[in-house]
Amino acid sequence: MARPTCANIHTDALRHNLAQARALAPHSRVMAVVKADGYGHGLERVARALEGADAFGVAALSDADRLRAAGLSQPIVLLSGFDEADDLPQLRRLGVETVVHHISQIEMLEQAAPGDPIRCWLKVDSGMHRLGFAPEQVREAYARLSEAASVADGIVLMNHFASSDEFDGNSPGSRQTREQLAAFAAATEGLRGVRSLSNSAAVLGWPEAHADWIRPGGLLYGISAVEGRTGADFGLRPAMTLSTRLIAVNRVRKGERIGYAATWQAPQDMLIGVAAIGYGDGYPRAAPSGTPLRVAGHDTQVIGRVSMDLMTIDLRGVPAAKVGDPVELWGPELPVERIAQISGTIGYELTCSITRRVRFVEA
Ligand SMILES: *Cc1c(COP(=O)(O)O)cnc(C)c1O
Repeated sequence: MARPTCANIHTDALRHNLAQARALAPHSRVMAVVKADGYGHGLERVARALEGADAFGVAALSDADRLRAAGLSQPIVLLSGFDEADDLPQLRRLGVETVVHHISQIEMLEQAAPGDPIRCWLKVDSGMHRLGFAPEQVREAYARLSEAASVADGIVLMNHFASSDEFDGNSPGSRQTREQLAAFAAATEGLRGVRSLSNSAAVLGWPEAHADWIRPGGLLYGISAVEGRTGADFGLRPAMTLSTRLIAVNRVRKGERIGYAATWQAPQDMLIGVAAIGYGDGYPRAAPSGTPLRVAGHDTQVIGRVSMDLMTIDLRGVPAAKVGDPVELWGPELPVERIAQISGTIGYELTCSITRRVRFVEA
């Protein structure tokens, strides 16, 4: 029998979330960020569902290659930029636009062989201090790109926010976002070109940052990047349900210990379930006893250590449970953000971590 572990991808939810992004930022074009295999939902599947987007954002040229091979003809932007001169013919062949964040990239563009011009997104480091030109370098970078024969007309100006998930006016994160907005505006003042600033959190909470292009990722998958809030709180719908089945239902006596390292002890005679999912499928090992899940529609919890292929489940609230019953780990009824928070991470990491042995089904 095939392993019952399954990631259901809700393409209608993806489309709904794209429409939400457009409604939130009605004057902006939408780059759908599909890096990391569409945040773990499957690149081609996601891109087809989101073909109404104005562009796609990827982090690897190989992903651009896959999108073109799947017949998608939208603009594609390489968000981390190219890193060697050999990438340039590939960018041209695939018609891919690139972020330019470092002087070494400008040198490669200046020395590129003649060919189709490449559209560039000039990245300003407005204060996150990851990628981008420092504000005082922006004008020179812009001027050199404008002169390079290999660079297409219409340089896009962009930045990236570090803390746009904080909306509360006086928090340090909000202050940082306001400082980033001001630094970006000053660094690009008077430069011609459309502007792109906002990730999902800024789309949700910083309308003044929407500009010409928004770049939502998590929002499209129905995942909130805002601590303590779920996608549903913003009118979004989760695009993934992770599920499996019970492969055993066993009775244990009061005082017996469950699983590796015996971390959980039965407080009474009780039923426990064993489900065919573990960290080898991408369910977080860090999920402690008490992490919620659902068996045949009933809310219950993980007990004991999550192991590679299996987990153990408290069936006290599900007395009729039997082998074969469906187990839902996250999905519309159980936000992935909640599982992530309990496990010390974010929803993005959980959906990105689903492994290849999990069967993907479009629903
Ligand atoms: C990943 C990424 C995004 C999308 O971020 P979300 O929080 O998922 O919306 C936007 N812009 C850039 C440059 C990125 O790398």
